[in-house]
Amino acid sequence: MAAKGLGRAVIFLGPPGAGKGTQARQIAEAYGVPHLSTGDMFREHVSRGTPLGLRAKPIMERGELVPDDLVLSMVEDRISRPDSVGGFILDGFPRTIPQAEALDEILRKRFKTDPSVVHFVVDKNQLMRRLTGRRTCGIGGEIYNIYDHPPKVPGRCDRDGGELIQRPDEREDVIAGRLAAYERQTRPLVDYYRRQGVLKDVDGMAAPEAVTKNVLELLAQKK
Ligand SMILES: [Zn+2]
Repeated sequence: MAAKGLGRAVIFLGPPGAGKGTQARQIAEAYGVPHLSTGDMFREHVSRGTPLGLRAKPIMERGELVPDDLVLSMVEDRISRPDSVGGFILDGFPRTIPQAEALDEILRKRFKTDPSVVHFVVDKNQLMRRLTGRRTCGIGGEIYNIYDHPPKVPGRCDRDGGELIQRPDEREDVIAGRLAAYERQTRPLVDYYRRQGVLKDVDGMAAPEAVTKNVLELLAQKK
């Protein structure tokens, strides 16, 4: 598809597991703009051995949070590249109010138009079920959900009989911890952007194709 651009920054906001990453990839492709995630930025800087990467690497290896100034430098560097001129989709950033305030400054320098923020609204209980119910076949990688899409024989893959395992990062306590961190640190951004009049809600629990369609419609709307 020809690049038509977005003409502005678009921020995807929502809890982990709401499907933001998948949606961001598709919407970015539809508009011919980059899909930016801080995880990709870190990996790129680390593998190229840039000064930012050299600073970030030991912090990440210790499993600690990369400080804001470093994250913001990477974001600013990334959105200053030529491919970001027509806009981009930010996925998983900002996560905190201080990050959002700093991002506002960076964006004001580059875009005349306000950013658009797409808020993925989810039901927390439903999201927990969706994430903690997931089981993956140890042989073929087939994915099941013990609540919504159970195998015929509990614990066994329908296709190849492989053992169904729960990934460590999908355990209930891990997911609950991530959701709690979202509520505490990132949730306040919903009000922050709503007050600015740039936030639009989308039903994140709808079928993925319906979510994509809704996001495309929201982004095509005039404010
Ligand atoms: Zn299998």
